[in-house]
Amino acid sequence: MQTHFTEAQKANPDIAEADKILRNCVHCGFCTATCPTYTLLGDELDSPRGRIYLIKDMLENDRPATEQVVKHLDRCLSCLSCMSTCPSGVHYMHLIDHARVHVEETYKRPWFDRLQREVLARLIPYPNRFKAALALGALAKPLAALMPSKLKAMLDVAPLPVGRSAMDEPGTYKADGQRQHRVAILPGCAQRAIAPEINDATLRLLRRHGAEVVFPANATCCGSLVHHMGREEQSHAQAKAMIDAWWPETTEGGGQGLDAIVINASGCGTTVKDYGFMLRNDAAYAEKAALVSSLAKDISEFLATIGLMTPAIETGQRVTYHAACSLQHGQQVRNQPKDLLAAAGFTVSEAAEAHLCCGSAGTYNLLQPEIATRLRDRKLGNIAATGPEIIAAGNIGCITQLAGKAGVPVVHTVELLDWATGGPKPAGI
Ligand code: SF4
Ligand code: SF4
Repeated sequence: MQTHFTEAQKANPDIAEADKILRNCVHCGFCTATCPTYTLLGDELDSPRGRIYLIKDMLENDRPATEQVVKHLDRCLSCLSCMSTCPSGVHYMHLIDHARVHVEETYKRPWFDRLQREVLARLIPYPNRFKAALALGALAKPLAALMPSKLKAMLDVAPLPVGRSAMDEPGTYKADGQRQHRVAILPGCAQRAIAPEINDATLRLLRRHGAEVVFPANATCCGSLVHHMGREEQSHAQAKAMIDAWWPETTEGGGQGLDAIVINASGCGTTVKDYGFMLRNDAAYAEKAALVSSLAKDISEFLATIGLMTPAIETGQRVTYHAACSLQHGQQVRNQPKDLLAAAGFTVSEAAEAHLCCGSAGTYNLLQPEIATRLRDRKLGNIAATGPEIIAAGNIGCITQLAGKAGVPVVHTVELLDWATGGPKPAGI
């Protein structure tokens, strides 16, 4: 694609990067076929190629975002299915991330949208605040039918608050038996508030496989949630705080060293793996960020590398694996979770249209509830056709989006692997 940025514009490293990405696009349109919003809405402007044109026009002309541009960019799930499909290697993620920052800086949203985004950005990344909000939400649920549609959608998907996890404390957890690996984990934010059993299962599983696990003090949200809302300052501050939390454990930071930073929420994993890019122009953090990104591994990637131990029990249940977009498209981690579940003794299926998003996508199901619900129902229909007894996924967003409507338990992959290798049976199974 030809671009016409001036040299002065390209002096801005973000614009120079956008120019490079845009020039890789050859307009072929292969990406439209696998884009969930184009599949549902059939509008070119709701396809990757259409959005790329909108972003190019906005950035090249140095224009504030318009209502029409915002409408189509907001409808993008950042599912990155287009990146898996694109034969030219167009880095759509970095382009849409930059466009969202431009929108945030140049467009004034209607007051309710501003309020809703502000509330989400100030609540979800902070587990204690989020839990308190969920407790209030639980009280308001009976009144949901009387509320405006966007508020009702938020209450509908809000899970019930849960208690603290026994293992949800910073510290170093020794390996069961002889130490063979040393890893840190990302404790997370929303997941920690609504499904602490996932961190419990992760810790048991890692320790059982000979890993000493560091649960860093001063851990925050990784920044992913607000990063996808275009709130660059907040997301970079959260990324730096997480780097500061892990850094003392690395050999470069004077610690005992880490074989990996293990992440069990794939939406977060995609962002942590991108820290090196996000902070590339920050003199104080660029090198540290690059190192942290190079250490980041999804839990399934790490376990696949060290090998799953022999199962302790016979399982055999039919598990349909739902591939979170952030894992299959964002990190290109596709087979490891399925292979691990099969090695643990489960009978594993994958549903038709596995490349399509379930509609969760961070805060998307709260901000775009109609499209998100259509995608969820389509996903559940495809999954039901496989006749599962259990649905497994590697991302809390997908689990929350599908749970309750699936008719069968929806659990994290690590909960099943933990159960099969000696842990407790996941609740609901
Ligand atoms: S990220 Fe997903 S929704 Fe957005 S353009 Fe790409 S395929 Fe479509
Ligand atoms: S598939 Fe890639 S090169 Fe083709 S239109 Fe889409 S982004 Fe551009």
